[in-house]
Parts: sequence; C-alpha cells; structure tokens
Amino acid sequence: MKHRFIFSFTLGLVIFAGCSLVSNQSPGENLNPEITANEILDHIKYLSDDKREGRFPGSNGSQEAIEYIVNHFKKDGLEPAGPNGFLQPFEFIVGIDYGEVNQLEIAGTTYEKGIDYIPLEFSSSSTVESDIVFSGYGFSIDDSVQWNDYANSDVEGKWVLVFIDGPDSDSPHSDFAKHTPLRKKAMLARDNKAAGILFVNQAGDNDTLIPLKHSPNSTAVGISVLHISRSIADGLVGGRLEILQKELDEKLAPNSFPITQRVNAEVSLKKEIVEVPNVIGMIRGSDSVLKDEYIVIGAHFDHLGYGGGGSGSLAPDSAVVHNGADDNASGIAGILELAEKLSFNKKLLKRSIILMAYNAEEEGLLGSKYYVNNPTIDLSSVIAMINMDMIGRMSDNKVTIGGTGTSPGFETLLNEANEKKKIQLKMSPEGYGPSDHASFYINDVPVLFFFTGTHENYHKPSDDWEHINATGEKQIVDLVYDLTIKLSSLDEKPAFTEAGPKEPNQTRRSFKVTFGVIPSYGSQEEGMEIDGAKKEGPAGKAGMEKGDVIIEIGGKEIKNIYDYMYRLGELKPGDEVEVKIKRGEKVLSLKVTL
Ligand SMILES: [Zn+2]
Repeated sequence: MKHRFIFSFTLGLVIFAGCSLVSNQSPGENLNPEITANEILDHIKYLSDDKREGRFPGSNGSQEAIEYIVNHFKKDGLEPAGPNGFLQPFEFIVGIDYGEVNQLEIAGTTYEKGIDYIPLEFSSSSTVESDIVFSGYGFSIDDSVQWNDYANSDVEGKWVLVFIDGPDSDSPHSDFAKHTPLRKKAMLARDNKAAGILFVNQAGDNDTLIPLKHSPNSTAVGISVLHISRSIADGLVGGRLEILQKELDEKLAPNSFPITQRVNAEVSLKKEIVEVPNVIGMIRGSDSVLKDEYIVIGAHFDHLGYGGGGSGSLAPDSAVVHNGADDNASGIAGILELAEKLSFNKKLLKRSIILMAYNAEEEGLLGSKYYVNNPTIDLSSVIAMINMDMIGRMSDNKVTIGGTGTSPGFETLLNEANEKKKIQLKMSPEGYGPSDHASFYINDVPVLFFFTGTHENYHKPSDDWEHINATGEKQIVDLVYDLTIKLSSLDEKPAFTEAGPKEPNQTRRSFKVTFGVIPSYGSQEEGMEIDGAKKEGPAGKAGMEKGDVIIEIGGKEIKNIYDYMYRLGELKPGDEVEVKIKRGEKVLSLKVTL
C-alpha cells in the first residue's frame, strides 16, 4: 500500500532522477537503429521478467517498465509529448476499502463487518436506520414469468430483506437468470424507494459473504447494500428463513411482509485511486505542412500483475506473476524498435509520429480512452492509429490485421508495404476490437490493429518470453515501419470509413432494442455518459451527442451503465420513451423511438 497514494508525486522524482542511475541501458549504447529480433527479445525479457510483477498499474514493476520506455524514448531522441514530459497521468481506481465508520446494529446487538456482514462494492455510503420488509427474491418481473415482490408492499424508506439468486438457485438457463444480478435487485429496490437492501444466501449454500472488491466500471447504486449472514437474517424472520424460501420456491409467487425490527447500519466505503501515466513521445515530421498531421503508433504496457479473481486472469486461482511477454511486452518491444529506427530515419517522415504506451488497458482500455478524451493534439489531425497488441506469437508466417475497412486505401497500402516481406496478411475490416485502437475508432480515426492471435498461455502466468517468436515479430514490426513511412508521405490523408459497430458485440447482441449510443466505460459520472451516438440511430436522431449523460429512461432513474443495460433489457422495438440527459449543467428531455 505504501506507494499507492504518494505514487504520482514520487514517480516524477524517480524517473528524472533515475535516468542516469537506474537505466538498464546507457544512452547511445546500442547504435544499430535496425529492427532486430535480438533487441525485440531483450525488450520482452526485461518487461516480462518476474521483477516487473506483471506490470499492474501503479505497481513497482509498472514503474520500472515506465522508466524503461522513457529512457529509450530519450535515448532515441524523441520529443516528450505528454502534459508532464513523456507522461500523461490519469486517475485509476485500484480498489475499494472500508471508510471511516461501518457498523450494523440490530436490537442492541452490534455485528462485525467482514464476518457477520459485508457491504457490496456498489453500495452507497450512507446511514439507514429503519424497519424491514421481507421481499422474497426482490423480483419485479413482467414477462413470460409474472413475479413482483414489491406489489402491494410498501418499502418506502425501509430495508428490504432479499434472497440472492432465484427459485432454481443460480442456474444460468432459468427464466429468472436475467433477473438475479445483485445490482439489478438493488436497482429495483431503489426504484421502489427502499432505503437499503439486505442480501442473504439461500439455504444449502455455504454461507460465504461476497468479498469487498472493486470491479471495473463500478459506481454506487444509490442505496445501502449489505450481504448479511444467514443467522442474522434467520433472527430477523423469527427462525423461519428456510421455510420462507421453501414456500417461495414451491409456490413460485411472492410472499412479502413487513418486519417490525429496527436495523441501523452505517456504510462508508472509499475507492482507492492512484494516478498512473500513459507514456508519449513524438518524432516531428519534416514537411512544413504535413508535420502538423500525425500517425499514432500505440501499444499497452500494463498487464494483470499477480492475477486473481476479477483480474481477467484465465488462471484466477493462481496468485503469481502474470508475465505478459506476448500481452503486451511484445507490442512495447515493437514501439521501442520503431522509435529507434523512425527517429534515426526521421528525414524520411513528412508527417509527425506519436508513439504511445498505454496504461490500464486490461482494466477497460482506460489509458487510451483517457488519451482520446484528453488528447495532447487535435484528434482530427490524427490521420491513422496503428495498434500492436500481442504480436509475439506469429505462426505459419501469418499476422491478423483488424480495421482494414476503416479507410478505403488501407488494404492496398498494406499489400504494397508487404510486397517484399511476403507475410500472410489476414485482414479483417472491423474497426472495433478488444484493444486500444477501439478508443480511436469510435472517434472516427482510421485504425489498424496488428495481432498474431490468442494462444494457450493467454492471460496466464505462463505467457513467458520463452514462447515468443522474435523473428516473426521482427517481420511484423518491419511491416509497420514501412507502412508508417508510406502513411507519413501520402499526398492525401486516408479518409475514414465506418467499418462495423462502435461498441462491443456482446452489448449489441443481448438486447432486443438499441439506442445506438456508445457507453462510456469507466466513466465515474452519475448516470450513463456516452462516448458517441450513431447519427442515424434512435438516440442520434433524437439529438443525443458525445459527452451527454443519460439520467432517466421512461421515468426511471439511470445512475450507471448497469441501470442502463437493465432498463434496455425491458424495452421493446417501437417503444417511444422519454429520455432525460444532462448536457453540461443543463437537463434536457428527448423523445426516443427504439
Ligand atoms: Zn493486451
């Protein structure tokens, strides 16, 4: 914990103090500007060494990786292009912890946090002292299943006591499955004006409480949310907890009733926020006009740290260093080799090159998203963004290139640059994808995404340098080099063409209706901020635009992206709904036809 809060301050000191002290390669030592397999492997070995601790944002290992990149940018004579030298700091939520006072008292008995009860990470920090209403599963379902635990039940200003999951437990195929997310149950309790919700495990479950752990994109739901032990809950219903559940599961109907028992709980949670940087360097073009147009070449340098549940690790039970040699030390090795060779040959460049190493990509593209929302240059002067994420495991001389449809000339340019190399180019037109180029694509920047494919070590501690195909990567980086030289001296800048959706597939697929907006993942705004609205989409037609914050749909509050998704799940094609949005200080009301 020690460095977490003082992180941003010390970082600046270490980098600039350390250049001469800790750089692992004295400036100018390696004068061969060529892109070589050996240098690529050296970079990957350093960045994926156990000492780098899997480069989790804010960690010491991440700090050393940042120093390494900055030292190489300096050695290669790049211009610092961040607001803070080579750095662009941004805030990142690393965790959540208990705040000052957390207490639960019922009928004079106080209970222990973490043992008898745990607040859920999306609970609001507030104090509620009130009676309770037993509210079954906390459902409000009006589709093939009819079940409303709030019908004819006044829960206003009270606690509701609710079982987790549903009548057929947590089976994903049940009709109740889409109604069991705890966040949705909390939102419904809030809709019914409850002041707080007490979740209890079902009979038969081992009575483990959900640990307090931050999850990306998480914001407070607006009421107090506690997970309490079965023994507390049983006490509240006079020892009838098991019978009550049995009745619900047998009758498949609500059985809500008030309980005159005061529950007094104070919840205070605090997010642990650290400041972590993107690393940005520039090579200025030589043409008096075109030098003010830019090609962005980017790659993320962060990885999963020690993994663990919720980290995105595919070996979640192993709390060991996830080295991330391919993901994405390989991409950074590409950035460093390109920095060296492009800088050495900068007289060949008409347009300028910005090389970016993003942080917190694994947490939801946070670094690149921060950049496009806080660009250091006018984003419309970026003529193309080239992203390299996992380019170290080439097989069969093949590389996948995404985004080739985001500008009409890209395929030709790639084939020209590949002429002598004869790499098998597997081109796919879509601009959106699970890496940093997506942040640029949704802002109408033509993108190309280089990727050698997933593999059995992906997001596991075994993603080590020994598996890297450095010779294959050299070919890919050579290709990116030639492509960059071509792009930098094109007479006309590449035109942008939309190629596929501007949002993750799964969001689109799981709803019957769409608003045609791009949710702003990671936004901490109250409501759902959008990164854009498709012109011809329902929201676009109603006048919604980038930066708007949706706060109400059909008279129902929207406090975050989850509320939005749950509301969308209840709407049908053709529905016309009133949508309230915040634009700056103003609140506007729009009619949207879905
Ligand atoms: Zn990656």
